[in-house]
Amino acid sequence: MKVVLACDLGGTNLRMALVDKDGKMFYQSRSETPKTREEIIRKIVSLAEECSYEARRVGYEVNALGIAAPATLNSEKGIIMKAPNVPALDGMPICSVLENELKIQCFLENDANAAAIGEQNFGSARGFNSIVMVTLGTGVGGGIILDGKLWRGIDGTAGEIGHITVEPMGASCGCGSRGCLEQYSSASAIIRMTKEFRCDYPRSPLYSRLFLTAKDVYEAGKQGDKLALKVFEQMGTYLGIGLAGLINVLNPEAIVIGGGASEGWELFIPYTIEQIRKRAYEEPAQRAKLLKAELGEMAGVLGAAKIAFDKMKSVATPGI
Ligand SMILES: [Zn+2]
Repeated sequence: MKVVLACDLGGTNLRMALVDKDGKMFYQSRSETPKTREEIIRKIVSLAEECSYEARRVGYEVNALGIAAPATLNSEKGIIMKAPNVPALDGMPICSVLENELKIQCFLENDANAAAIGEQNFGSARGFNSIVMVTLGTGVGGGIILDGKLWRGIDGTAGEIGHITVEPMGASCGCGSRGCLEQYSSASAIIRMTKEFRCDYPRSPLYSRLFLTAKDVYEAGKQGDKLALKVFEQMGTYLGIGLAGLINVLNPEAIVIGGGASEGWELFIPYTIEQIRKRAYEEPAQRAKLLKAELGEMAGVLGAAKIAFDKMKSVATPGI
Protein backbone atom coordinates (compact mmCIF):
# COMPACT_ATOMS: atom_id res chain seq x y z
CA MET A 1 0.00 0.00 0.00
CA LYS A 2 1.09 3.57 -0.71
CA VAL A 3 1.48 6.03 2.13
CA VAL A 4 3.07 9.48 2.30
CA LEU A 5 5.11 11.29 4.88
CA ALA A 6 3.44 14.43 6.16
CA CYS A 7 5.25 17.07 8.17
CA ASP A 8 3.90 20.01 10.13
CA LEU A 9 6.85 22.32 10.63
CA GLY A 10 5.57 24.60 13.39
CA GLY A 11 7.30 27.39 15.28
CA THR A 12 7.34 25.21 18.42
CA ASN A 13 6.79 21.62 17.32
CA LEU A 14 7.86 19.52 14.39
CA ARG A 15 5.49 16.66 13.62
CA MET A 16 5.91 13.87 11.11
CA ALA A 17 3.39 11.17 10.29
CA LEU A 18 2.75 8.32 7.90
CA VAL A 19 -0.66 8.81 6.30
CA ASP A 20 -2.67 6.87 3.70
CA LYS A 21 -4.90 8.42 1.04
CA ASP A 22 -7.97 8.25 3.31
CA GLY A 23 -6.27 10.35 5.96
CA LYS A 24 -5.54 7.43 8.26
CA MET A 25 -2.40 7.93 10.31
CA PHE A 26 -0.26 4.86 10.86
CA TYR A 27 2.64 6.24 12.77
CA GLN A 28 3.68 9.61 14.08
CA SER A 29 6.66 11.19 15.68
CA ARG A 30 7.38 14.67 16.97
CA SER A 31 10.10 16.84 18.38
CA GLU A 32 10.71 20.46 19.30
CA THR A 33 11.56 22.64 16.32
CA PRO A 34 15.32 23.30 16.41
CA LYS A 35 16.65 26.82 15.92
CA THR A 36 19.09 26.68 13.02
CA ARG A 37 18.46 25.76 9.41
CA GLU A 38 20.89 22.81 9.46
CA GLU A 39 19.40 21.40 12.67
CA ILE A 40 15.86 21.74 11.30
CA ILE A 41 16.77 19.84 8.12
CA ARG A 42 18.63 17.19 10.12
CA LYS A 43 15.61 16.76 12.40
CA ILE A 44 13.14 16.51 9.50
CA VAL A 45 15.38 13.92 7.84
CA SER A 46 15.71 11.86 11.01
CA LEU A 47 11.93 11.92 11.71
CA ALA A 48 11.28 11.01 8.04
CA GLU A 49 13.70 8.09 8.30
CA GLU A 50 12.10 6.92 11.53
CA CYS A 51 8.64 6.96 9.92
CA SER A 52 9.92 5.32 6.73
CA TYR A 53 11.52 2.56 8.75
CA GLU A 54 8.12 1.86 10.30
CA ALA A 55 6.53 1.90 6.83
CA ARG A 56 9.03 -0.62 5.49
CA ARG A 57 8.58 -2.81 8.52
CA VAL A 58 4.89 -3.29 7.69
CA GLY A 59 5.47 -3.39 3.93
CA TYR A 60 4.15 0.06 2.94
CA GLU A 61 5.69 2.12 0.17
CA VAL A 62 6.63 5.79 0.82
CA ASN A 63 6.92 7.99 -2.27
CA ALA A 64 6.37 11.57 -1.21
CA LEU A 65 6.59 14.10 1.60
CA GLY A 66 4.13 16.93 2.17
CA ILE A 67 5.26 19.83 4.37
CA ALA A 68 3.08 22.45 6.04
CA ALA A 69 5.04 25.52 7.14
CA PRO A 70 4.05 28.72 8.97
CA ALA A 71 5.28 30.96 6.20
CA THR A 72 4.61 32.86 3.04
CA LEU A 73 5.98 30.59 0.37
CA ASN A 74 6.09 29.59 -3.26
CA SER A 75 4.44 26.19 -3.26
CA GLU A 76 5.23 25.48 -6.94
CA LYS A 77 8.94 26.01 -6.45
CA GLY A 78 8.96 24.64 -2.90
CA ILE A 79 10.62 27.75 -1.52
CA ILE A 80 9.88 29.35 1.85
CA MET A 81 9.88 33.12 1.51
CA LYS A 82 9.28 34.43 5.02
CA ALA A 83 8.63 32.47 8.21
CA PRO A 84 8.22 35.01 11.06
CA ASN A 85 8.15 32.24 13.73
CA VAL A 86 11.02 30.19 12.24
CA PRO A 87 13.25 32.90 10.72
CA ALA A 88 16.04 30.37 10.03
CA LEU A 89 13.92 29.17 7.10
CA ASP A 90 13.59 32.53 5.33
CA GLY A 91 14.43 32.15 1.65
CA MET A 92 15.06 28.41 1.87
CA PRO A 93 14.40 26.07 -1.08
CA ILE A 94 13.25 23.45 1.40
CA CYS A 95 11.78 21.01 -1.14
CA SER A 96 14.95 20.67 -3.22
CA VAL A 97 17.08 20.32 -0.07
CA LEU A 98 14.85 17.54 1.29
CA GLU A 99 14.46 15.85 -2.09
CA ASN A 100 18.25 15.58 -2.22
CA GLU A 101 18.42 14.14 1.26
CA LEU A 102 15.44 11.79 1.15
CA LYS A 103 15.25 10.94 -2.58
CA ILE A 104 11.47 11.34 -2.65
CA GLN A 105 9.19 14.07 -4.06
CA CYS A 106 8.48 16.93 -1.64
CA PHE A 107 5.58 19.38 -1.65
CA LEU A 108 5.23 22.56 0.36
CA GLU A 109 2.14 24.43 1.55
CA ASN A 110 1.34 27.18 4.04
CA ASP A 111 0.17 25.67 7.36
CA ALA A 112 -3.21 27.44 7.46
CA ASN A 113 -3.93 26.36 3.88
CA ALA A 114 -2.90 22.79 4.73
CA ALA A 115 -5.24 22.85 7.76
CA ALA A 116 -8.10 23.99 5.51
CA ILE A 117 -7.41 21.12 3.11
CA GLY A 118 -7.19 18.72 6.07
CA GLU A 119 -10.57 19.77 7.47
CA GLN A 120 -12.21 19.80 4.04
CA ASN A 121 -11.06 16.28 3.21
CA PHE A 122 -10.94 14.49 6.54
CA GLY A 123 -12.51 16.77 9.16
CA SER A 124 -15.66 18.74 9.90
CA ALA A 125 -15.98 20.22 6.38
CA ARG A 126 -16.11 16.86 4.55
CA GLY A 127 -18.50 17.13 1.65
CA PHE A 128 -18.26 20.92 1.34
CA ASN A 129 -16.59 22.46 -1.71
CA SER A 130 -16.33 26.14 -0.76
CA ILE A 131 -15.11 26.78 2.74
CA VAL A 132 -13.23 29.28 4.83
CA MET A 133 -11.05 27.94 7.61
CA VAL A 134 -10.10 30.22 10.50
CA THR A 135 -7.48 29.08 12.99
CA LEU A 136 -7.60 30.86 16.35
CA GLY A 137 -4.18 30.11 17.80
CA THR A 138 -1.39 32.38 19.03
CA GLY A 139 -2.34 34.39 15.95
CA VAL A 140 -5.32 34.05 13.61
CA GLY A 141 -4.68 32.08 10.41
CA GLY A 142 -6.91 31.50 7.44
CA GLY A 143 -7.37 29.27 4.42
CA ILE A 144 -9.88 29.67 1.61
CA ILE A 145 -11.08 26.81 -0.61
CA LEU A 146 -13.38 27.78 -3.48
CA ASP A 147 -15.00 25.17 -5.73
CA GLY A 148 -12.67 22.59 -4.23
CA LYS A 149 -9.52 24.57 -4.99
CA LEU A 150 -7.29 26.39 -2.58
CA TRP A 151 -7.29 30.12 -3.28
CA ARG A 152 -3.66 31.25 -2.92
CA GLY A 153 -3.93 34.67 -4.53
CA ILE A 154 -1.67 35.92 -7.29
CA ASP A 155 1.37 36.10 -4.97
CA GLY A 156 0.48 33.18 -2.74
CA THR A 157 -0.42 35.40 0.20
CA ALA A 158 -4.23 35.01 0.22
CA GLY A 159 -6.22 33.89 3.25
CA GLU A 160 -4.74 36.28 5.84
CA ILE A 161 -8.04 36.49 7.64
CA GLY A 162 -6.28 37.46 10.87
CA HIS A 163 -5.32 40.78 9.35
CA ILE A 164 -8.75 42.02 8.34
CA THR A 165 -9.37 45.31 10.15
CA VAL A 166 -12.25 44.93 12.59
CA GLU A 167 -11.56 48.03 14.73
CA PRO A 168 -10.17 51.01 12.79
CA MET A 169 -8.43 52.65 15.76
CA GLY A 170 -7.77 49.41 17.60
CA ALA A 171 -4.71 47.65 19.02
CA SER A 172 -1.59 47.82 16.88
CA CYS A 173 -0.67 44.58 15.12
CA GLY A 174 2.62 42.88 14.23
CA CYS A 175 1.73 43.21 10.54
CA GLY A 176 2.07 47.01 10.74
CA SER A 177 -1.66 47.75 10.71
CA ARG A 178 -3.97 48.19 13.68
CA GLY A 179 -7.26 46.75 14.85
CA CYS A 180 -6.69 43.44 13.03
CA LEU A 181 -8.93 40.46 13.87
CA GLU A 182 -5.84 38.73 15.29
CA GLN A 183 -5.71 41.41 18.03
CA TYR A 184 -9.22 40.43 19.25
CA SER A 185 -9.85 36.76 18.50
CA SER A 186 -6.56 34.90 19.05
CA ALA A 187 -5.33 33.18 22.21
CA SER A 188 -2.89 36.08 22.75
CA ALA A 189 -5.77 38.54 22.36
CA ILE A 190 -7.75 36.69 25.05
CA ILE A 191 -4.86 37.21 27.47
CA ARG A 192 -4.36 40.85 26.46
CA MET A 193 -8.04 41.72 26.81
CA THR A 194 -8.27 39.94 30.18
CA LYS A 195 -5.42 42.11 31.48
CA GLU A 196 -6.99 45.21 29.95
CA PHE A 197 -10.45 44.69 31.46
CA ARG A 198 -9.57 43.23 34.82
CA CYS A 199 -9.29 46.45 36.83
CA ASP A 200 -13.10 46.59 36.53
CA TYR A 201 -13.47 43.07 37.96
CA PRO A 202 -11.60 43.01 41.31
CA ARG A 203 -13.56 39.95 42.45
CA SER A 204 -12.56 37.84 39.48
CA PRO A 205 -10.14 34.96 40.19
CA LEU A 206 -8.19 36.27 37.19
CA TYR A 207 -7.82 39.73 38.75
CA SER A 208 -4.46 39.23 40.42
CA ARG A 209 -3.14 36.24 38.44
CA LEU A 210 0.46 36.93 37.39
CA PHE A 211 0.71 34.37 34.62
CA LEU A 212 -2.34 33.93 32.45
CA THR A 213 -3.13 31.53 29.63
CA ALA A 214 -6.16 31.57 27.33
CA LYS A 215 -7.11 28.24 28.93
CA ASP A 216 -7.24 29.89 32.40
CA VAL A 217 -9.66 32.46 31.01
CA TYR A 218 -11.78 29.72 29.42
CA GLU A 219 -11.87 27.72 32.66
CA ALA A 220 -12.95 30.84 34.58
CA GLY A 221 -15.60 31.55 31.93
CA LYS A 222 -17.04 28.05 32.31
CA GLN A 223 -17.45 28.79 36.04
CA GLY A 224 -19.38 31.95 35.16
CA ASP A 225 -16.61 34.49 35.87
CA LYS A 226 -17.88 37.83 34.56
CA LEU A 227 -14.46 39.07 33.41
CA ALA A 228 -13.84 35.94 31.35
CA LEU A 229 -17.34 36.10 29.88
CA LYS A 230 -16.74 39.73 28.88
CA VAL A 231 -13.49 38.75 27.14
CA PHE A 232 -15.19 35.96 25.18
CA GLU A 233 -18.03 38.33 24.28
CA GLN A 234 -15.48 40.70 22.73
CA MET A 235 -13.64 37.87 21.03
CA GLY A 236 -16.83 36.45 19.49
CA THR A 237 -18.15 39.86 18.49
CA TYR A 238 -15.02 40.81 16.55
CA LEU A 239 -14.83 37.37 14.98
CA GLY A 240 -18.41 37.83 13.79
CA ILE A 241 -17.59 41.24 12.31
CA GLY A 242 -14.72 39.69 10.33
CA LEU A 243 -16.70 36.64 9.24
CA ALA A 244 -19.75 38.69 8.19
CA GLY A 245 -17.53 40.48 5.65
CA LEU A 246 -16.12 37.19 4.37
CA ILE A 247 -19.62 35.73 4.07
CA ASN A 248 -20.77 38.69 1.97
CA VAL A 249 -17.71 38.51 -0.28
CA LEU A 250 -17.31 34.74 -0.71
CA ASN A 251 -20.74 33.18 -0.03
CA PRO A 252 -19.10 30.01 1.39
CA GLU A 253 -20.95 26.82 2.29
CA ALA A 254 -19.14 26.54 5.61
CA ILE A 255 -16.73 28.31 7.91
CA VAL A 256 -14.54 25.99 9.96
CA ILE A 257 -13.17 27.44 13.19
CA GLY A 258 -10.17 25.71 14.74
CA GLY A 259 -7.06 26.41 16.79
CA GLY A 260 -6.56 26.29 20.57
CA ALA A 261 -8.79 29.30 21.28
CA SER A 262 -11.75 27.63 19.54
CA GLU A 263 -12.05 25.53 22.71
CA GLY A 264 -14.02 28.45 24.14
CA TRP A 265 -16.64 27.84 21.42
CA GLU A 266 -19.78 27.91 23.57
CA LEU A 267 -18.63 31.13 25.24
CA PHE A 268 -17.95 33.15 22.07
CA ILE A 269 -19.99 31.63 19.23
CA PRO A 270 -23.37 33.20 20.21
CA TYR A 271 -21.79 36.67 19.76
CA THR A 272 -20.23 35.62 16.45
CA ILE A 273 -23.61 34.44 15.16
CA GLU A 274 -25.25 37.64 16.40
CA GLN A 275 -22.84 39.82 14.40
CA ILE A 276 -23.16 37.68 11.29
CA ARG A 277 -26.97 37.98 11.49
CA LYS A 278 -26.74 41.74 11.97
CA ARG A 279 -24.16 42.45 9.31
CA ALA A 280 -24.17 39.89 6.50
CA TYR A 281 -26.78 39.52 3.78
CA GLU A 282 -29.49 37.14 4.88
CA GLU A 283 -29.11 34.46 2.21
CA PRO A 284 -25.34 33.85 2.48
CA ALA A 285 -25.51 34.24 6.29
CA GLN A 286 -28.09 31.45 6.51
CA ARG A 287 -26.14 29.32 4.06
CA ALA A 288 -22.75 29.49 5.81
CA LYS A 289 -22.54 26.75 8.43
CA LEU A 290 -20.26 27.53 11.35
CA LEU A 291 -18.37 24.33 12.14
CA LYS A 292 -15.95 23.55 14.91
CA ALA A 293 -12.79 21.99 13.48
CA GLU A 294 -12.42 18.25 14.18
CA LEU A 295 -8.79 17.47 13.51
CA GLY A 296 -7.18 19.63 16.18
CA GLU A 297 -3.40 19.79 15.96
CA MET A 298 -3.34 17.18 13.20
CA ALA A 299 -5.17 19.31 10.58
CA GLY A 300 -1.89 20.58 9.07
CA VAL A 301 -0.32 17.13 8.89
CA LEU A 302 -3.40 15.58 7.26
CA GLY A 303 -3.69 18.48 4.80
CA ALA A 304 -0.01 18.14 3.90
CA ALA A 305 -0.59 14.42 3.30
CA LYS A 306 -3.55 15.10 1.00
CA ILE A 307 -1.48 17.63 -0.96
CA ALA A 308 1.34 15.09 -1.35
CA PHE A 309 -1.11 12.43 -2.60
CA ASP A 310 -2.73 14.83 -5.08
CA LYS A 311 0.53 16.17 -6.49
CA MET A 312 2.83 13.19 -6.50
CA LYS A 313 3.63 11.80 -9.88
CA SER A 314 2.55 8.27 -10.53
CA VAL A 315 6.02 7.54 -11.89
CA ALA A 316 7.66 5.01 -9.65
CA THR A 317 10.41 6.53 -7.53
CA PRO A 318 12.93 4.55 -5.52
CA GLY A 319 11.27 5.54 -2.22
CA ILE A 320 12.99 5.32 1.13
ZN1 LIG B 1 -2.40 42.65 11.43
